[in-house]
Amino acid sequence: MLPARFLPRLHLVGAALLLCRGCLGPVGQGAEAGLCGRCWAGLLPLPEGRCARCALVHGGEESCPEVTEWEKGDALWDYHGGRPPLGALLLPGIKGGEAGWGRALLDRLAEVPLPPWSAEVDLVTSVPSTLPRRWLRGSDFSAEAARLVAGRLARAYEPLLTKRWFSGRQAARTESQRRRLPRKALSLRRGVAPRGRILLVDDVWTTGTTLLRCVQALREGGADEVRVLTLFRAT
Ligand SMILES: [Zn+2]
Ligand SMILES: [Zn+2]
Repeated sequence: MLPARFLPRLHLVGAALLLCRGCLGPVGQGAEAGLCGRCWAGLLPLPEGRCARCALVHGGEESCPEVTEWEKGDALWDYHGGRPPLGALLLPGIKGGEAGWGRALLDRLAEVPLPPWSAEVDLVTSVPSTLPRRWLRGSDFSAEAARLVAGRLARAYEPLLTKRWFSGRQAARTESQRRRLPRKALSLRRGVAPRGRILLVDDVWTTGTTLLRCVQALREGGADEVRVLTLFRAT
């Protein structure tokens, strides 16, 4: 047993070691999954007045700076919101196996307002990850998010798309390589027949090339309309 006079000091030492894994500040009230409340407050919505197709702010007369083959597209949070930018911290961590961060983010997804037009879809699907990546990670976060969104909308979730393993990791590619993502890398799963208005869900929207390929595959496969919703948007 330590003398009683040491106990308050031990408490201080323990508290000092409990540092937030995002900002390295002390964790305190509102902390969850090793991140402090201030870091979690970095889940910020995108700016008001953004385009309803590309989710970027640009002049109403100007066409979208990126190709968008859909009428409705939006994201729930700014990928670079907060200090440190929370989306850019969370998503690579979750893909690397941070299950606690994944659960905490899904809890927030269960509460955040969804775009009103998402209630008008018939079915929810997700941007696929490759099989080897799913095996390595043990989960497919976009699919988990899409299932949760489908539950909130009282619609079915169905994995309609597949991604070939040789198409490689998007994150590891340069900007120009990403834009050249081969069209055939993303295709419909064998035997599925998309119909009606489909909501396509992904974790992060950067250039939109992957979303574009998915939307094209769904529409060529018979979907009447595809709308796009991602958790984060890099602007
Ligand atoms: Zn923090
Ligand atoms: Zn636009």
